[in-house]
Amino acid sequence: MTITQQSARPESASGEPTILHWIGGESTAAGSERTAPVTNPATGEVSGRVALARTQDVDAAVAAAAAAFPAWRDTSLARRAQVLFSFRELLNSRKHELAAIITAEHGKVLDDALGEVTRGQEVVEFACGMPHLLKGGFSEGASTKVDVHSMRQPLGPVAIISPFNFPAMVPMWFFPLAIAAGNTVVVKPSEKVPTATVWMAELWKEAGLPDGVFNVVNGDKEAVDALLDNPSIKAVSFVGSTPIAQYVYSRGTANGKRVQALGGAKNHMVVLPDADLDLAADAAVNAGFGSAGERCMAVSALVAVGDIADELVSKIADRTRSLRTGDGLRGCDMGPLVTAAHRDRVAGYIDAGEAAGATVVLDGRVNTSATDQFDAESTPEGPSGFFLGPTLFDHVTTEMPIYTDEIFGPVLSVLRVDAYDDAVQLVNDSPYGNGTAIFTNDGGAARRYQNEIQVGMVGINVPVPVPMAYYSFGGWKNSLFGDTHAHGTEGVHFFTRGKVVTTRWQDPSHGGLNLGFPQND
Ligand code: NAD
Repeated sequence: MTITQQSARPESASGEPTILHWIGGESTAAGSERTAPVTNPATGEVSGRVALARTQDVDAAVAAAAAAFPAWRDTSLARRAQVLFSFRELLNSRKHELAAIITAEHGKVLDDALGEVTRGQEVVEFACGMPHLLKGGFSEGASTKVDVHSMRQPLGPVAIISPFNFPAMVPMWFFPLAIAAGNTVVVKPSEKVPTATVWMAELWKEAGLPDGVFNVVNGDKEAVDALLDNPSIKAVSFVGSTPIAQYVYSRGTANGKRVQALGGAKNHMVVLPDADLDLAADAAVNAGFGSAGERCMAVSALVAVGDIADELVSKIADRTRSLRTGDGLRGCDMGPLVTAAHRDRVAGYIDAGEAAGATVVLDGRVNTSATDQFDAESTPEGPSGFFLGPTLFDHVTTEMPIYTDEIFGPVLSVLRVDAYDDAVQLVNDSPYGNGTAIFTNDGGAARRYQNEIQVGMVGINVPVPVPMAYYSFGGWKNSLFGDTHAHGTEGVHFFTRGKVVTTRWQDPSHGGLNLGFPQND
């Protein structure tokens, strides 16, 4: 992979390139002395070091965003939309470059990385329509000679804090809308995958965005806390695990900010007895093991209803055995996990599932499906990257840690229930409510499910029901803190405030004193 832009910077003392911040339209180390390693999960090699911002660095980025805000807010809608269109064109023409950056730091296979960029680009395209989205209402003659109109205005500098699993798409759920609506932005990407966001910052500059409108601070908890505490930040869009989402929501709102904090998930796929089991098995494998299960919309719990479980598990196992796990740049089906620590954590859950008595149908710890598919440069002792094969558990119960916890890896658990009502109860008892899917040929059952299920995004014979950009993305319960979902019209609302103007123009007949409370007449 070649990073042609400036995001990979001159070497650190240890010899790797340093990934810096982007403040006020330029790449800068600011005052960062702390750094963290960035690894290529397919090889296990340290590919760079990311600067970790101190509070002063974050404050400098916020100051740049605050300084750029008045002029950007007052830039015409037409001009702002033109910059969005330019960014979209550049992104579209260079998306393969961005996909390669994602694969090199996250590990997901190249096609999947390209899919992520494309889904993010959809939000850019939606944001190109901001002149239409910001149109207010107008009531002529609301009262005698009085007109009323509404408008939506930007908030100011806003912060976007993103997780490792979608280095490009998740920041793009937010910043195109924030920018198009006239806000300025400070993004804090995951320190595990920092390069994509800095790369996009340079693309914005090329697209003609004024300096200071889009800023990036790399970092960890210190940077997040500095954003949450900085009074100039008016709103925070966060995506990550549930405990951190809850923390960000509490601290951000306590500081008077508007916060949407999207958290973790445990997504159920319910398969009814009348479903097409081949279709359901394909869907379970795709949604369970795509991106090595590191998707907030991954299916991690399959609920088999009635007597189909044996046949369904057998079909899923057959398909899973054919998956090729390896370096995402080499045309495999599934890449490595993001870090060695995460790979070991997921493997620990497989140990726990086995110890709890679940049936291990396929065991990713011994790479049952993929021993010869790993990186060709593997050492004789084993692959050098952070690989784990797909794991399939059967006879999982709701008390087991492999069910109660979000594992965020290639581990699919099958739970068996007798009837539709048991499946609904099981899904609704989960503390998470991000996504769910039902597989059936019974339209009536599907219709009941979409009505009864307490989950924010529902798929009917669609395993990963990620809404299009013009709808809003978000879960219920512990999968979202705050009341506004990402993108779509809810995203536009999140990044703007409403104002209503009541107008009376005097004409020659108007005049006289009246100290009474204004009334409609
Ligand atoms: P994470 O919570 O560890 O990190 C998310 C962000 O928070 C990162 O930028 C990180 O630097 C920061 N952070 C980490 N610890 C912090 C702390 N103690 N204080 C302040 N900030 C902190 O999440 P992750 O491992 O990067 O991402 C995976 C998680 O994200 C999963 O739980 C997944 O379900 C979730 N996710 C949810 C959605 C959704 O839409 N609901 C989408 C993608 C990912």
